[in-house]
Amino acid sequence: MEQWLVGVDLGGTTVKLAFVNMYGEIICKWEIPTDKSEQGKHIITHIAKAIDEKLRELDESKERLIGIGIGAPGPVNMATGDIYEAVNLGWKNFPLKDRLEMETGLPVVVDNDANIAAIGEMWKGAGDGAKNLILVTLGTGVGGGVIVNGQIVHGTNGAGGEIGHITSIPEGGASCNCGKTGCLETIASATGIARIATERLQQTNEPSCLRDVWKESGTVTAKDVFDAAKKNDTLALHIVDEVTFHLGLALANLANGLNPEKIVIGGGVSKAGDMLAQAVARHFKRFAFPRVAEAADIVIATLGNDAGVIGGAWLVKENIA
Ligand SMILES: [Zn+2]
Repeated sequence: MEQWLVGVDLGGTTVKLAFVNMYGEIICKWEIPTDKSEQGKHIITHIAKAIDEKLRELDESKERLIGIGIGAPGPVNMATGDIYEAVNLGWKNFPLKDRLEMETGLPVVVDNDANIAAIGEMWKGAGDGAKNLILVTLGTGVGGGVIVNGQIVHGTNGAGGEIGHITSIPEGGASCNCGKTGCLETIASATGIARIATERLQQTNEPSCLRDVWKESGTVTAKDVFDAAKKNDTLALHIVDEVTFHLGLALANLANGLNPEKIVIGGGVSKAGDMLAQAVARHFKRFAFPRVAEAADIVIATLGNDAGVIGGAWLVKENIA
């Protein structure tokens, strides 16, 4: 009987789940809403029930499943599988591995959500098997995962790969959720790009199709900026250049310490595609050590929302199977 790996990507809004075979192919994927009520105490039961219900629906037994690999939105104690803190879920020092093992009767491997997305892209996505890889996800925030020699870099207390909090503006930058100012996240996240766009519109009278969007809807999104840039809108092109300058600089500094083969850009903003990758690559080349620049390929993530569940499955394959 072919055995399946269970990948779970636990987010603040939805929990994505998948049964995946040993080749990293998705057999079945689905999602459930994240119940954040009562400090997120029901989440584990909901995941366990969702797996049981899906097995019943497929007329399969639990024997099929080898184990669960789950990514959570917060730093992980790798020795215990506890989540130090997941602000989005209301968890503090939450024993995720223990609780999920208890509820499902399956062995569980826990990691951070951005890390499993990185491992997913390494295994089946844009990483294309590269064992030295950096993933940066540009969404509401900026997340990151660093893979060295095929292993996730967790660091001393679970905060490895926090690329979003590399300082881009040392003095006078915008406030970040982490308590610092001037983090890359305040510039290159969807939120950051929208903020910069609004500021630039306020600062000038330069004609731009973004100004029409702004006047009509009262807001400008990151997508509006890239759409306008693709139509050669000057103001939008300047904003894209500003954002990709900071991304290229931060990634080059990081790459100078790691010498990666692939730098994968994921998250909602990465839908901007080649235009984004090429602009980042141009700035990256300027700031990377020549040998580092030569080795590193800057590419757009290919797995989209599946990166997390595939990475979760890989954790099971590597650690349990
Ligand atoms: Zn920060």
